[in-house]
Amino acid sequence: MTDMSDIAIARAARKLPIQQIGAKLGIGPDDLVPYGHDKAKVGQTFIDSVQDRPDGKLILVTAINPTPAGEGKTTTTVGLGDGLCAIGKRAAICIREASLGPCFGMKGGAAGGGYAQVIPMEDMNLHFTGDFHAITSAHNLLAAMIDNHIYWGNALDIDIRRIVWRRVMDMNDRALRQVNVSLGGVSNGFPRETGFDITVASEVMAILCLARNLDDLQRRLGDIIVAYTRDRTPITCRQIKADGAMTVLLRDAMQPNLVQTLENNPAFVHGGPFANIAHGCNSVTATTTALKLADYVVTEAGFGADLGAEKFLNIKCRKAGLSPAVVVLVATVRAMKMNGGVAKGELGLENVAAVQAGCANLGQHIANVQGFGVPVVVAINHFSGDTQAEIDAVTAYVAGQGSEAILCRHWAEGSDGTRDLATRVAAIADAGTARFQTLYPDDMPLLDKIETIATRIYRADGVAADAKIRAQLTQWEAQGFGHLPICMAKTQYSFSTDPDLRGAPRGHTVPIREVRLSAGAGFIVAICGDIMTMPGLPRVPAAESIGLNARGEIEGLF
Ligand code: ADP
Ligand code: MG
Repeated sequence: MTDMSDIAIARAARKLPIQQIGAKLGIGPDDLVPYGHDKAKVGQTFIDSVQDRPDGKLILVTAINPTPAGEGKTTTTVGLGDGLCAIGKRAAICIREASLGPCFGMKGGAAGGGYAQVIPMEDMNLHFTGDFHAITSAHNLLAAMIDNHIYWGNALDIDIRRIVWRRVMDMNDRALRQVNVSLGGVSNGFPRETGFDITVASEVMAILCLARNLDDLQRRLGDIIVAYTRDRTPITCRQIKADGAMTVLLRDAMQPNLVQTLENNPAFVHGGPFANIAHGCNSVTATTTALKLADYVVTEAGFGADLGAEKFLNIKCRKAGLSPAVVVLVATVRAMKMNGGVAKGELGLENVAAVQAGCANLGQHIANVQGFGVPVVVAINHFSGDTQAEIDAVTAYVAGQGSEAILCRHWAEGSDGTRDLATRVAAIADAGTARFQTLYPDDMPLLDKIETIATRIYRADGVAADAKIRAQLTQWEAQGFGHLPICMAKTQYSFSTDPDLRGAPRGHTVPIREVRLSAGAGFIVAICGDIMTMPGLPRVPAAESIGLNARGEIEGLF
């Protein structure tokens, strides 16, 4: 049981020098590029040298639709990794890096919580190894080169009303959502409207996370569509000749970062794309490297399984040739209660009927993941107020769905709380029963792919898309983009596009408001709701109470 804050627990941890963590995975000190004493990048030469080794087993941690009650995917990813190590397995975890901006808005980190955390958590949530700054620089170099190209004569005939490449920064700053640039006269270029997105929403971030190596990175950067001419011909980053310099800026950022858990087990923390307009998981290079070095690799996908796991499986696994051995679906008694209609203020009261009602949401996620041919285990992330009757209700429900639920207490107890889960997950992975298949083939028409996700995963009756959207999809098919997978951007709170429809709604349709081509990342984004690509700060931002204490330590971050 813990009364300590996440940051207090993290600060009390006994960290090992990063070289000792590398040694656990067989990475020699010369193959690590240290950033201080407790962080390192894994050298590219070493990564190249292990490519012929067999892969370990991949375990995906995902969850039910998130509720304000909290689910704990990262906490469970860390807890399961530590649990596997505790039962004597060679395991590593792979998670995303955090965006710096939101840390100053609402409290809440990306390093897990309680006794299942990755450290150094302050670094991980702030500048870390500078990857996001490199991505910001590479993105904005391209933006500067586009305006510069136009300034010096616009040989490519770019229509300045049709420039789609915006600028980015890693800060929540609503004032920059829409801006006018190039004001102030002839020497500053041609005035036009543009705006800023947060760095994690950059296509460069998605590309860094999907690229297999530096050559693939440069090719994908070159493919980015930055603007159109008056007759709507796409102009690419390659035509602006920015892809080489961007690759230079990103060379170090492409190498995965190695840190450790509270229990001194290896953790790769690399990349952090948005989970709506992008695919929301850590880099392919981190996952594929970890699979060469560990027998079991536990990784996390953002949001609920309808978005996070669907994209992990249909985008990341498809592109990187990955195949999970088992999926762990995180659920909490509290979230089941909320899905069953209980208000947040009443979560403390036992309510078995509401838990049972809310299980419909869990059941649909179980069936969906099983539909990909991968075995599912439900991890009940234990909160201190959960009653035995409520836990039993979830366990019984899950058994009825052809799966199994295992109670986990990693938040309060670390690896002692996940031994059962780890033992079971390892056994299922070792049995090799997974027969992974993507939900749709590459050659299915784009609209049919969207419909397949909407009907098979969201259980909608269908999608609603007007003539303009259908025409756009057909045009992309004619231009050779028809083979791309779909990246759905919808609310994470519901299977439907209405965030208030919890449980397992039926009879709904999925309206497609807009479609966007991310030609470099290699997916088509289908937007079904308001998607914010530059967040703002709340009325009382966390930044107001963040500062250094007398010992020079960070206070107020978590
Ligand atoms: P996710 O990855 O699903 O967004 P996290 O693992 O980051 O969730 O957890 C979100 C927050 O909930 C963290 O602050 C964490 O400390 C807290 N949390 C997670 N599990 C528990 C638990 N069992 N009891 C209390 N707090 C928890
Ligand atoms: Mg998380």
